[in-house]
Amino acid sequence: MSASWQRKLADGRVVVIDGGTGSELRRRGFRLSDDAWSGLASASHEHLLAEIHADFIRAGAEIITANTFGTTRFLLESAGYGSEFRAINERAVRAAFEARDATGADVAIAGSISCMPPGLDTGAYPDPVTEAAAYVELAELLAELGVDLLLLEMMEDDEHSGRACEAAAAVGLPWWLGLSCRFGRDGDSLVGFDFFDLPVEVPLQALLKHEPAVVAVMHTPPDAVGLALEVVQENWKGPAGAYPVLDENGTDKTAKPPIPAPGTLASLAGDWIEAGARVLGGCCGATPDHIRALRDVAHQHSGKRP
Ligand SMILES: [Zn+2]
Repeated sequence: MSASWQRKLADGRVVVIDGGTGSELRRRGFRLSDDAWSGLASASHEHLLAEIHADFIRAGAEIITANTFGTTRFLLESAGYGSEFRAINERAVRAAFEARDATGADVAIAGSISCMPPGLDTGAYPDPVTEAAAYVELAELLAELGVDLLLLEMMEDDEHSGRACEAAAAVGLPWWLGLSCRFGRDGDSLVGFDFFDLPVEVPLQALLKHEPAVVAVMHTPPDAVGLALEVVQENWKGPAGAYPVLDENGTDKTAKPPIPAPGTLASLAGDWIEAGARVLGGCCGATPDHIRALRDVAHQHSGKRP
């Protein structure tokens, strides 16, 4: 188990995490699904998954994220794989451990938990009791399988995300609140990424009550990260970070800005460090090259410290 990320954050240093595992699977030929996103890759493409994790580690990631963003029981059931819930999650975590062993690097392994609804349809959630039980089941299984921490990803409302964060907080591992937002219709205030009528302060303040170790602005467009970090820091005094969405294809059918080059991302990340971010990484669209560029930014920051 690696706890060096906690020591680094306590020292005010910058921790680098990985990029988009799902988008990297897609870039390397795996077809993502609306039912379980990248979740089924753990069943059919475990070796490819381990390769991707290893590439992120070699690029400088100090935390890698197991491919469990889309593996709650209700998602796997909607994809026809409900009976393989345990096996698919075991394989996802195993692929991350394989990559750590293959590289010999001192990296932490995170389990991802999201509130992705079946078919990306927010009307398709199971009833609240079943939904909450699914987050508890996944959080407990990930802890049992030996992950070092939990990343709660695409938290963007108070209702569904509240159930997931409560489940994560109950297992006793450190967990990160991954807040996902973007500019709303007015163009100058932030809303939940898929919740255009919900100011981002609403989920943020509700979810902070579950006491995360880190609040990371994630799956948020790069142009919204600076303001999102400000909003986070107005509400939260602990470590904050950013791992933005670089490629909105597949998650947003309307807005498709070009994917920033690694150097462009690194330049933005320098600003985010100045604004207080102490975790850097990438979400959808972030490749090992992006993570390499972020590692260099983090090293520069460490070098500048007295
Ligand atoms: Zn993403």
